[in-house]
Amino acid sequence: MTDLLSLTPDGARAALSPWLAARAQPPYRLKQIVSRLWQRPIGSWEDATDLPAALRAELGAAFPLGRLALDTAQQSRDGTEKFLWKLADGEAIESVLIPEGKRRTLCISSQVGCALGCVFCATGRMGFRRNLTTAEIAAQVRELVLRDPATPPTNVVFMGMGEPLLNWDAVDAALTILNHPDGLGIGARHITVSTVGILPSLAQLARRPEQFRLAVSLHAPSAELRHELMPIEKKYRLPDLLQALGQFRRRVTLEYVLIGGKNDSLAQADELASLARPLGALVNLLPLHPGGAPDLMPSSRAQMLAFERRLNSRGVEAVLRRSRGLDISAACGQLRVELEARRKVRPQEHARVE
Ligand code: SAH
Ligand code: SF4
Repeated sequence: MTDLLSLTPDGARAALSPWLAARAQPPYRLKQIVSRLWQRPIGSWEDATDLPAALRAELGAAFPLGRLALDTAQQSRDGTEKFLWKLADGEAIESVLIPEGKRRTLCISSQVGCALGCVFCATGRMGFRRNLTTAEIAAQVRELVLRDPATPPTNVVFMGMGEPLLNWDAVDAALTILNHPDGLGIGARHITVSTVGILPSLAQLARRPEQFRLAVSLHAPSAELRHELMPIEKKYRLPDLLQALGQFRRRVTLEYVLIGGKNDSLAQADELASLARPLGALVNLLPLHPGGAPDLMPSSRAQMLAFERRLNSRGVEAVLRRSRGLDISAACGQLRVELEARRKVRPQEHARVE
């Protein structure tokens, strides 16, 4: 059975053409069917009432449409919504919808968990479970279009669970689906890939002709400190990452989560400015959210503002992001699915309760 939702629109056409020809279907059926994958999505072929009933039944048998099962949806006081999706094999992932004026940004996951273990990150603490398929990545957007066709997500950021560039093949095809006019039709400039900087797939992303946006999680201005916070620094070193970014043809955003007493001094702001300025990079300053290592503290509001001002005064455009969805643990870095197996009470926890 072919999973049409894991194929790019061109791939889906290639799979469907001979199948339709074998059934002596008129040529216009192809377009009709492909439009039901992403442009005017349906929950199942049964709902495609513009197609003959017999064809709908055959499509259902040959090309079942995979769905994400909504486990829970939670809405924050600030309008942010978090969706917990159950996957076919029982794993679970989260996506977060952040409305802001006319913009509706959906933060999607690319893996179940993450292998990279950044010390401040909740997803990192749950470890790696598996990669998502292309269909599972793009379906996070598709399901929201199905729920609310009048107001689909306008922007997509790969800032949910997982490291997108460690699942490059699936993300590569998902990017095409998100952006393609016969796919979800979201402008490339409205799609952001966030990564710690996996250099081989970063080079592949850079080779794509579309203007996808790139956000790089830096979090430290020196290799030493970055190593302490992000184990990936052992494999892909900061100097090499900065060199790769220097060759990136488009403007890059550097993400920097402010951790009290760790990476938030004004001297570190100066160091960061000396890295960001030659790149012409925009710096996104993120308040630390709970869920990572318990001994890490967020910077004070005053320190965050001083850090931002310092970067600006050094000629670097820096923006201090507001935390959204904190009351429902929906912020970046807070996404962590509590798994059944891990919920079991461990013996020592028993001992403490008794
Ligand atoms: N793996 C990718 C994308 C997912 S994480 C990456 O690391 O870039 C998305 C963003 O959330 C990253 O910038 C990450 O550093 C940030 N983040 C992780 N934990 C956080 C926390 N506790 N508080 C604030 N931001 C956090
Ligand atoms: Fe993985 Fe990104 Fe979290 Fe690091 S910050 S553990 S790379 S999800």
